[in-house]
Amino acid sequence: MNRPKTIFIDIDGTLLYHYGSQSQQIQNPPKLLPLVKEKLDKWDLQGYNIILTTGRKESLRQITEKQLSDIGIFFDQLIMGIGGGTRVLINDRKTNSQEDTAIAINITRNEGLINVEI
Ligand SMILES: [Mg+2]
Repeated sequence: MNRPKTIFIDIDGTLLYHYGSQSQQIQNPPKLLPLVKEKLDKWDLQGYNIILTTGRKESLRQITEKQLSDIGIFFDQLIMGIGGGTRVLINDRKTNSQEDTAIAINITRNEGLINVEI
């Protein structure tokens, strides 16, 4: 039984082009990276939960949500202000299963989701 996955995905440099500082991110027009829309649509069709994570400050929520919706990015939740350090996901395996319940994928900044297979 495979239940729908939950995808935690970064915004700047992962979904949108990474210009630099937080002010640059909101002052420049958001630029969609390769295969972002296609992957989001695919995951949505599969019933996956899409949770955006970003180091952008909470005070940038409104403009961030507008940038995302203007460019066609949708999500279930948006977690802001989590900082720029390494992100670690911890989860327990199901009883009687050795299957991993947490995985991580590191990608190159601004390459988009071309090498992401989930
Ligand atoms: Mg980033």
